[in-house]
Amino acid sequence: MSVKVLLVEDEKSIADGIIYNLKNEGLKVTHVDDGKIALDIFNEEHFDLLILDIMLPEVSGLEICKAIRKSSNVPIIILTAKDDENDKISGLEMGADDYITKPFSVKELISRVKAVLRRTKNSELLHGVDEDLNFAKEITIGNIAMNPLRYEAKIDNEIIELRPREFELLYYLCENAGNIVSRDKLFSKVWGYSFAGNSKTLDVHIQRIRERIEVNPKSPKRLVTIRGVGYKLND
Ligand code: CA
Repeated sequence: MSVKVLLVEDEKSIADGIIYNLKNEGLKVTHVDDGKIALDIFNEEHFDLLILDIMLPEVSGLEICKAIRKSSNVPIIILTAKDDENDKISGLEMGADDYITKPFSVKELISRVKAVLRRTKNSELLHGVDEDLNFAKEITIGNIAMNPLRYEAKIDNEIIELRPREFELLYYLCENAGNIVSRDKLFSKVWGYSFAGNSKTLDVHIQRIRERIEVNPKSPKRLVTIRGVGYKLND
């Protein structure tokens, strides 16, 4: 059994490079260059990972991401143009797990793909990868309760809606409640690779968690920023 990747990319040279390198890693790649076809295929077949270009003819990558997130938690990596901060943030807000900025190196692509797959329970399909998070026990911190077996988080006994990555972030912060966790540490624990250049990813996920757990997300009291260092979850 190999990992199945759906690649949606309309630039042939980029697509060819990605296909070649992922196949070299033993992954199975289905490639389409059109957003509408991508949605059709996604609804018919099972995929373990989506690599999604944002700039596509007809249906944009952002729209595909939004549509897929209504029914699926499949990991999504978006491909964005170098200077388009808005695309990165919109993509993350639409539910993408991570982004890669074009042009990217093969090494970067492979490490992101492996990290995403590792975090989504496909680690048995990849060799030599260790689990970074230990999702063994239920945790209760004040009125927050987290059940890692169900990926279920509750506040005052009410289930709150968190995406898998947001759950993992909050879980790690709960495990370290009362202590300051650096941005570096948080990122490497939850995403599985080093932090360089990816501050937006972490910012957007933290913001989304605050919208779920804070009375006033703009003035957070539970998940606080420690300026220049990282974050701290209070009881
Ligand atoms: Ca494109």
